Amino acid sequence: MHNKKTKKPFLVLSDFDGTICTMDMGNEVLNQFTGEEWRRIDDEYCAGRMGSREAYGIMSSLFKGTREEMLGYIHRNERMDHNFPEFRRFCADRGIDIKITSDGLDFYISVILQKYGLDDLEFFANRAVFSDEGRLSISFPLASEECGRCGTCKRQILEGYRSSYEKIFYVGDGHSDVCAAGKADLVFAKNVLYVKCREGDIPCIPYETFRDVQNHLERILNPRNTGMDGLVSDE
Ligand SMILES: [Mg+2]
Repeated sequence: MHNKKTKKPFLVLSDFDGTICTMDMGNEVLNQFTGEEWRRIDDEYCAGRMGSREAYGIMSSLFKGTREEMLGYIHRNERMDHNFPEFRRFCADRGIDIKITSDGLDFYISVILQKYGLDDLEFFANRAVFSDEGRLSISFPLASEECGRCGTCKRQILEGYRSSYEKIFYVGDGHSDVCAAGKADLVFAKNVLYVKCREGDIPCIPYETFRDVQNHLERILNPRNTGMDGLVSDE
């Protein structure tokens, strides 16, 4: 008897910083705990002259502060999109899976998801390890072997789910989302990602919050609508 694998219908892959969390917590933590030097490195990254993996490698040696200080800062300063918990319930009701792909660091994502009782959501991110002396080191278990620019290769993660889902929706806002967006069935984009999608002819839907994403999905997944034609519309 053949064990034929059946695909699940929909997966939402979402970026974290600037997307689920409305501010970039990675940038905030770096700004707060590495001093001014990180700005020069961030400028190199934003200009495309340095990949995030290389940038993290330099910045990890600049970190000052204990894990507890960083966690306290994150807890006090995070800004979750307040529409996201509702979006998560909407997806659960419709049988849509959500997974988070981040080129940020795992420790602050865990803290923020826990704060909102969302820590059962699966996420993929760079790994931060604090030594007994309080030094931070960063590892990249999800980097691409062929490319290696980003710490976490979101494109590779998306492609890994191709055989498991009928359609993959991508939500993001930044440089590290561009390659994955080019491989998704439907892209919700803002900020840098929106600009890059327009430049690269990647069809995308502009959004500001997860309320917008939910409204759009409600519309196109409504059986009374013609449905999937709307999946690649560029509004
Ligand atoms: Mg982002």
